[in-house]
Amino acid sequence: MGGAAGRDRGRTVLMEVERLMELALRTEDGVLRRAAVRHAVELCRRTRTRMPRRYSRLICRKCLSLYKFSEGSRFRVKRGRTKGVVVICGNCGAVNRVPLRR
Ligand SMILES: [Zn+2]
Repeated sequence: MGGAAGRDRGRTVLMEVERLMELALRTEDGVLRRAAVRHAVELCRRTRTRMPRRYSRLICRKCLSLYKFSEGSRFRVKRGRTKGVVVICGNCGAVNRVPLRR
């Protein structure tokens, strides 16, 4: 069974990351939200797990806070050659580009 252990652990980490991110998305508690996101990002880093795309695009790369549009985060869709979405963080004002896959 030895070889399967690493894969199993990876899956467990992913489940934990998902649990934390779902918690962060659901809670109205800003402190809890930040803690959950930080924990999830930290867990990914430590275990070299890739943050699932549906979550990674919701996190500001600069301050690691979750975009909350009720708190001033803004979306801007770019057209033309460099298609993509620009997200402006409501917390630190950082502009994060989210390229769209064709
Ligand atoms: Zn930010």
